[in-house]
Amino acid sequence: MNYVILGAGPAGVTAAETLRQHDRNARITLIGGEPEKAPYSRMAIPYLLDGRIGEKGTHLRQVDSHYKDHGIDYMVGRAGGIDAQGKKLFLDGNRVQPYDKLLLATGASPIIPRMEGANSEGVHTCWTLADAREILKHADRGAEVVLVGAGFIGCIVLEALHMRGCKLTVVELAPRMVARMMDETAGGMLTRWCREHGVKVFTGTKVEMILPGSGTGSSRHMVHLSNGQAVPAKLVVLAAGVRSNIGYLTGSGVDVKTGILVNEYLQTSAPDIYAAGDCCEGVDLSTGKPDMLAIQPVAVEHGRIAAQNMAGKRTPHRGSLNMNVLDTMGLISSSFGNWQGAEGGETSKAIDEGKFKYIKLNFAGDRMIGAQCVGLTDHVGMLRGLIQTGFRLGSWRAKLMKEPERLREAYVAVAQNAPRTGPTAPHVKVPIPA
Ligand SMILES: Cc1cc2nc3c(=O)[nH]c(=O)nc-3n(C[C@H](O)[C@H](O)[C@H](O)COP(=O)(O)OP(=O)(O)OC[C@H]3O[C@@H](n4cnc5c(N)ncnc54)[C@H](O)[C@@H]3O)c2cc1C
Repeated sequence: MNYVILGAGPAGVTAAETLRQHDRNARITLIGGEPEKAPYSRMAIPYLLDGRIGEKGTHLRQVDSHYKDHGIDYMVGRAGGIDAQGKKLFLDGNRVQPYDKLLLATGASPIIPRMEGANSEGVHTCWTLADAREILKHADRGAEVVLVGAGFIGCIVLEALHMRGCKLTVVELAPRMVARMMDETAGGMLTRWCREHGVKVFTGTKVEMILPGSGTGSSRHMVHLSNGQAVPAKLVVLAAGVRSNIGYLTGSGVDVKTGILVNEYLQTSAPDIYAAGDCCEGVDLSTGKPDMLAIQPVAVEHGRIAAQNMAGKRTPHRGSLNMNVLDTMGLISSSFGNWQGAEGGETSKAIDEGKFKYIKLNFAGDRMIGAQCVGLTDHVGMLRGLIQTGFRLGSWRAKLMKEPERLREAYVAVAQNAPRTGPTAPHVKVPIPA
């Protein structure tokens, strides 16, 4: 069996290792799209930026010979197209890579907002190791930095740049920070916290253009905002969302929407082609609907399950839990599952604005389906556990409705007694090729 894995992020690496566990004799080729010595984790980039690790620390596996030791051929190449009938992958224009079974694990790429100056020197996304190297050239202590976007990734980058001692201005188009992760109360708290810690934050504001060369001193750029203000910047970091890498699939017969469509076995519409991670729309456990959940645990889970199916061990994907945890200058915020709440469901909350503490729990019947917290760290594991397992809360639902802070007691009572009744998500119907 000749397995080819396109994409050497967490989804691809996990898949390659899982395939090896299930098939000792197969040929396994892992292809990364960036000219790097070893597969790495984007999630580690902030730690590289704040100086806690060096480049090697970003590598997904720390032993240099790991891939060789496991009989995995790691190579670099960019896919330009696929002949799904002839089972061939076209790399770098003219290289042909045949396969018996193929995994697409090509991840996502940052969206570059359309604006003048977005491609100037000193304006970068923060997605790849190459981006991190560029950012490190400019982001020194005291450097004026404009961060465009305050979503989950934007806030992670904010933390790293703050730790480097940069003077930060954050510009967010949405009316609040982390708008796709938390509600107005939590987003407002985060904004207030950032401002109190010396970060300028503009929400509901657009960057109109970046004018290179019009700044002063080392801040070469002027960043013009829709509120009429102009902010000097040595560095502009763009973190305005991501989209799945699927462009190379045009005409391949692999069905896509915003990401690659997969069935419950993470199989695409084309024969012997599977997909995993940020490039695909796997099922979101909370909604039962396909969605792109761009977090590393989901990529790893997809990679493992897709590989098991490729190796003939039929394993359905029941859905992944959407989960985001942020540390913003010491303030921990988190959201899980259906944090917006379900139609007809119930919500309980407790808030202490002064102390930056907030908890909100969402229920459907006597199950917890989503939650968000600010300033509460010891609940993270329990919230995840209750939501992911779908434990029935019984009489604890009413108690939590009154006092959401009693989560620990509820967890202990419920998790010890209840049978596992995890939600089974309905799956998208993508026909499984013969
Ligand atoms: C700065 C930053 C911080 C983050 N922090 C967190 C965090 O704290 N927690 C969390 O859960 N997630 C975090 N994430 C998100 C997480 O990194 C992604 O969800 C995860 O990397 C997805 O894994 P993946 O394997 O699907 O894709 P990726 O890691 O993106 O890997 C995709 C692979 O495909 C390759 N590729 C792409 N196109 C092609 C092509 N045409 N041909 C060949 N190869 C191609 C790429 O080179 C790469 O090797 C962070 C991301 C960033 C950028």
